[in-house]
Amino acid sequence: MSQNLQYPPRFYCVYLLRSIAKKNSFYIGSTPDPYRRLRQHNGELAVGGADRTKKNGLRPWQMTLVVYGFPSKTSALQFEYAWHYAYQTRHIPVKKRIGTRNSGSSVHIKIANLKLLLSAHAFGRMGLRVAIFQKAIYDIWVVNRYNVAVSESVLLKLDFEENQQKLIEGGNYEQMKAFVKSLEKEEEDYFEISLEKLEENNTRKCCVCHRVVDQFEDVLGFCASKDCHALYHVQCWAEEMTKDVVSEPLSHSVLPLTPVKGKCVKCQKVNWWWPMIKNSMRLHQHFTEIGRPCIEN
Ligand SMILES: [Zn+2]
Ligand SMILES: [Zn+2]
Repeated sequence: MSQNLQYPPRFYCVYLLRSIAKKNSFYIGSTPDPYRRLRQHNGELAVGGADRTKKNGLRPWQMTLVVYGFPSKTSALQFEYAWHYAYQTRHIPVKKRIGTRNSGSSVHIKIANLKLLLSAHAFGRMGLRVAIFQKAIYDIWVVNRYNVAVSESVLLKLDFEENQQKLIEGGNYEQMKAFVKSLEKEEEDYFEISLEKLEENNTRKCCVCHRVVDQFEDVLGFCASKDCHALYHVQCWAEEMTKDVVSEPLSHSVLPLTPVKGKCVKCQKVNWWWPMIKNSMRLHQHFTEIGRPCIEN
């Protein structure tokens, strides 16, 4: 089920840069490290940075929006490419396409295309999240000039830096640093709390099949709600999450259904598949490394 998942699944995001000096200049890119990447674009690091962002008068750049939560680097690169060439990407049906090769520069079109891609078949199931760091970009998102409905699965994280002096002096480095840290902390907490929950759970029964789980053998799923002690075989939870999903059109039915999200059968809280499975893979790796304790007798 998870053969092509790597642990640790490397963080990889797609971003939208905006020139602070020339507000109609944008740049779409992708990176495993938005903080370092922003410094490269702004010329603070000797190596790296795209040629286009080096042009006179465009620096400094602000990272105004980040799409994250990709299950792999490849999927992030595909998203970046599709966003860049939104006027011709196969991920957006021809009749839904907005803009042409030449009109692609308007920020309203960029945001509309972003929304279309977030709902596209290939990406809409990933539970992607969007962080917006500039109020003006958020306003464009809300105004929604092209009336693109965004899938309810897209979570927004808002954190605006509007201090112009600060931005001119150093893009929005502090913000990007804090953003990366907060994501790492989220994952770290999830992992630690899962270990505690397992430790405290005396019966260790899967909430779906009610069989006792074996952390050295099974891949276990934990509810993201801190107070909920529900425990699952991820396979059982996946089946539970997808059992009510109406099967998709034939052309898409080659692969078994990967869940997007589903309710915890115990606390009813919605759990997102990708963060949950990432945590599960990490736990699995942890227990594989420790190995089953030998019982000598
Ligand atoms: Zn089970
Ligand atoms: Zn729960």
